[in-house]
Amino acid sequence: MNLRGKSALVTGSTSGIGLGIAQALARAGAKVMLNGFGDVELALQSMDRYEHTPGYHPADLRDPAQIEAMMRHAAQELSGVDILVNNAGIQHVSPVESFPVERWDAIMAINLSSVFHATRLALPAMRARNWGRIINIASVHGLVASRDKSAYVAAKHGVVGFTKTVALETAQTGVTCNALCPGWVLTPLVQQQIDARIAGGASPEEAQEGLLKEKQPSGEFVTPRQLGELVLFLCSEAAAQVRGAAWNVDGGWVAQ
Ligand code: NAD
Repeated sequence: MNLRGKSALVTGSTSGIGLGIAQALARAGAKVMLNGFGDVELALQSMDRYEHTPGYHPADLRDPAQIEAMMRHAAQELSGVDILVNNAGIQHVSPVESFPVERWDAIMAINLSSVFHATRLALPAMRARNWGRIINIASVHGLVASRDKSAYVAAKHGVVGFTKTVALETAQTGVTCNALCPGWVLTPLVQQQIDARIAGGASPEEAQEGLLKEKQPSGEFVTPRQLGELVLFLCSEAAAQVRGAAWNVDGGWVAQ
């Protein structure tokens, strides 16, 4: 896969799935801009081995004004965003009645509204070039529900619906919009849920196995690298007619 001459912005790419996708895009020769919090230096260093030095923007995606600043910065630094991967996301686990209102608002803002804002701001230039790839990292929770994850499930179903709408609006252009729906991937977001099981008395092995056994028939985690490779496929010419898909990569989770 050769993405030389293309540029990509991956939101929430300082760890986990986003970093795996950023690395895959850089490996294929794209210029990449990272975004997100945490150990930014470590994330940038992990991109050292690739041809282009990665860019970075610290936008907090809860704030539409910061998303606008990030998109302006990306357009200037990358000479336009050809590939937009809307990946940033957070989780909170709690029954509806006790779900903290500020966590609901943050999940809606980061997991759903930021996808709308980045997409609406990236689309005009993609249309003008008649080429673009918008890849939204939804979740199996965009297709099915789990208890105690109301905000996350609502936001991810929203992402899948939004993806289909954008795919229809761009259907007669060289811009495609698709969603990936991963099952369990071992990242900081999931480690929190494993830690909650360990706090409840499980050993680390029991906690991981228990989590997988409940939902993911393969009994194995999906990897950021596998998701990165799928993103590369969606950027290829072979995927030009893959439009509005919600592609589950989940060890069989939603086949049940
Ligand atoms: P992660 O915690 O490793 O990564 C989340 C990223 O989002 C980090 O870079 C973080 O800094 C960034 N982020 C968080 N809040 C932000 C904000 N306000 N502004 C900007 N960036 C922010 O988690 P992950 O598991 O890699 O999750 C990435 C995406 O994949 C999320 O959308 C998540 O819902 C989705 N997903 C994860 C899994 C899984 O099992 N890990 C499964 C399905 C879908």
